[in-house]
Amino acid sequence: MNILVINCGSSSLKYQLIDSSKEEVLAKGLCERIGIDGSCITHQPMGGDKVKTEVDMPDHTVAVKMVIEKLTDASVGVIKSLDEIDAVGHRIVHGGEKFASSVVLNDEVIAAIEECNDLAPLHNPANLIGINSCKEIMPGVPMVGVFDTAFHQTMPQKAYMYGLPYEYYEKHKVRRYGFHGTSHDFVSQRAAEILGKDRKDLKIIVCHLGNGASISAVKNGESIDTSMGLTPLEGLIMGTRSGDIDPAIVTFLAEKEHISADEVLSICNKKSGVLGLSGVSSDFRDLGDAADAGNEKAKMTLEAYAYKVAKYIGAYTAAMNGVDVIAFTAGIGENNAQVRAMIGEYLGYLGTNIDPERNKIRGEEVILSDEGSKVVTMIVPTDEELAIARQTEALVK
Ligand code: ADP
Repeated sequence: MNILVINCGSSSLKYQLIDSSKEEVLAKGLCERIGIDGSCITHQPMGGDKVKTEVDMPDHTVAVKMVIEKLTDASVGVIKSLDEIDAVGHRIVHGGEKFASSVVLNDEVIAAIEECNDLAPLHNPANLIGINSCKEIMPGVPMVGVFDTAFHQTMPQKAYMYGLPYEYYEKHKVRRYGFHGTSHDFVSQRAAEILGKDRKDLKIIVCHLGNGASISAVKNGESIDTSMGLTPLEGLIMGTRSGDIDPAIVTFLAEKEHISADEVLSICNKKSGVLGLSGVSSDFRDLGDAADAGNEKAKMTLEAYAYKVAKYIGAYTAAMNGVDVIAFTAGIGENNAQVRAMIGEYLGYLGTNIDPERNKIRGEEVILSDEGSKVVTMIVPTDEELAIARQTEALVK
C-alpha cells in the first residue's frame, strides 16, 4: 500500500510517500512559505537528489497539487498517477479528550477535530486545512488522522489534573494532554522489541529530545505521565520554549517590561529555552561549539538542560515505582553524545552507567549502558511518519 503522510503547519507542509508493505520511503519533501512570497517545494525521491523548485503556492490546496505533481513527475516522481496513492495519513496535533487513538477521517470526525481548535489554535487549524486540501485534490482516497495527544489518553486523572479549581477542567477542559504521542508510542514499542521483551512487562522512560522536547513514563505499554501539558510549552527546557516556569512570572514580566501577557507567552514560546538562556542558538550543535570555545552561558545552558531532564527521569521513576529502560530519541537524543553523557551522570543511583565508547554512536539503535547496568539506557531513533503510515494502513485495510 502506498501511503502519503502529511504534516501540515500554518505555512508549511511536510510529506512522505511510504510503501507500507516494505516499510520503505519512496519520496519525501517539504513545501515552505505557503501563502507567503518566495514559496518553494523541496522534493527528494529516495536514492535521488533533492530538487528545490520555487513556485507560487498561495494556499495549501495548491501545495498539495504541487506535491502530487512532484510525486508523479516523469523525472523526479516515484508513481505514475494519483491512483497509486492508496491512503493519506495526517498528523494532527490536538485530539483533546475525544481521540484516544487514530481514526478514519469523515465529516463527523473532522467536525470533532474542529472542536479541539481552541486547545491548539496554532496547530489544529493548519492540520485541518491540510485535510480539506487533500479531500479536494484526492476525493475518494481514504484518510486517517493520527493525533499527537492520543497515546497519552491513558494517563490516570491524578497525572493529568492541575491543582486548579475543578470547574476549569469541566468548563474548559484545562488538563494535561501531552504531545509527541506517536513518537513515545513508537519508541517505547521498538525499545521493547530490541530487548526481545513485551512492552506490557516493562517500565520505560522515553526522552524525546528535539527542538520540541518531552519525556513520558510508559508503564506496561501505556503512557501514565508526560511532561508537556495543556499545550506543548510545559516541561523540559526546549530549543526556544521555556518549559516549566512559575506561572506568576507571566504577569510579573508583563508589568516590568510593559508588555502584555500574550507577549510574555510569545517570548516563552519563541525566544526562551536554550536560545534565550544562552543567547547563542536554539540548535544544540551551535550550543556545543560555543561551550567548547569557552562560552560560559552556553555551558550553563547545557547544564540546566541536562539537569531538568534528569529531574524528570527521577520523577517518572518514582511514578512507576522503578524503571527498566531509558530511551533517548529525536535530534538531540539520537545525535548529541555530550548531552546524553551529561544526563547519564545523574543516573548512577539507578544502576545505569552509559559506556563512553557506545555513547559515541549516533542516530542508530544501540544500547548505551554497560553490561552490568540494572537499567538499560539506549538510543531508539524515532520515525513518526512510519508510525503514521502503519496506523493509517491498519485502519483502511
Ligand atoms: P524537531 O523537533 O524540529 O523535529 P529535531 O528532532 O530535528 O527537531 O531536533 C533538532 C535538534 O537536534 C537540534 O538542536 C540539533 O542540534 C539536533 N540534531 C539534529 N540532527 C542532528 C545531527 N545529525 N547531529 C547533531 N545534532 C543534530
